[in-house]
Amino acid sequence: MSLFRANVDALEAYVPGEQPPAGAKVIKLNTNENPYPPSPRVVEAIRAELGGEGERLRLYSDPEALALRQAAAARFGVDVSEVLHGNGSDELLAILFRAFVDPGERVVYPVPTYVLYETLARAQGAVIETHAFDRDYTLPESLFGCEGKLVFLANPNSPSGTAVSPEVVERLARSLPRGVLVVDEAYGEFAEQHALGLVGRVPNLVVLRTFSKSDSLAGMRVGLAFASREVIAGLRKVKDSYNLDRLAIAAGAAALSDPEWTRRNVARIRATRERLSAGLVELGCVVLPSQANFVLARLEDAATARAAFGELKRAGILVRYFSLPDLDDALRISVGTDTEIDALLDCLRRFRAGERAP
Ligand SMILES: *Cc1c(COP(=O)(O)O)cnc(C)c1O
Repeated sequence: MSLFRANVDALEAYVPGEQPPAGAKVIKLNTNENPYPPSPRVVEAIRAELGGEGERLRLYSDPEALALRQAAAARFGVDVSEVLHGNGSDELLAILFRAFVDPGERVVYPVPTYVLYETLARAQGAVIETHAFDRDYTLPESLFGCEGKLVFLANPNSPSGTAVSPEVVERLARSLPRGVLVVDEAYGEFAEQHALGLVGRVPNLVVLRTFSKSDSLAGMRVGLAFASREVIAGLRKVKDSYNLDRLAIAAGAAALSDPEWTRRNVARIRATRERLSAGLVELGCVVLPSQANFVLARLEDAATARAAFGELKRAGILVRYFSLPDLDDALRISVGTDTEIDALLDCLRRFRAGERAP
């Protein structure tokens, strides 16, 4: 007899993209990490926080992470009371479930999307209602007015890279009769538009940001939630006290203090993204227009996509393959450095020519 709750027994654990051991010689284009090191200010700030002998590590971190939240408020033009910090945006997603969803309540999102929404909903015992995107990833009209307690929209979406405008986000939030819209902007810095301007104006809107993608800090685990003061105050009640460690708070604040670094990094990633997309189209792939730091490339069919995935893997190049309906003919490829993307395109060119990796 299992001692677990029935929904935990039935749960399939979330499977993140493969993380090869340190030192492995692979080109890692499978989890949308940034290929460049973070702002030098981040490393300086971590050194300063550590001090000579790490004396500050003795003491708990700031439960309010004020340095980080103040930097976020200054950078994004919101009030400190409209920002909450999380151990990655993944923790903020868990906090949202804890705060808003009783077992049996409804959670709604379009699919395919970030799989963690489903894992967390099942762990909470929520009822899940999904609305299928079409092949172009147009936002399903059926989402408007839906009865979800929480409604999730990854924008830009993963794994498609497609995005909707802030006007559509606002219309969706205002259409919900009794729910909160969570716009997950993990890739927001790479997109043309974002929804931070709606924070505070639209009462049932939460915008999530992460430092993992556009700030090159996936290993530090820092995320932010933006919402009205009332929503943030409620979320704060159900977070762990010391959810961010000292080094993460210092790193996040330092990253926010260097918008020029972000601007250059985003420009580089976007330029490589356009080169990657063009190269894939030349190789006969159908590539969705991406506003993120990855692209979704469709091949002829599932067998071809699986074969290409295997061939890349043999060449030491990791990309993401999803064995899911409407995705099994595609590869999701993170935008790496230009050299990495050249290696990927070379490998796919050989694959198309019928050659196998040595
Ligand atoms: C990467 C990603 C996250 C996770 O971000 P962390 O801050 O690293 O936890 C959340 N949502 C989406 C859509 C992502 O792609």
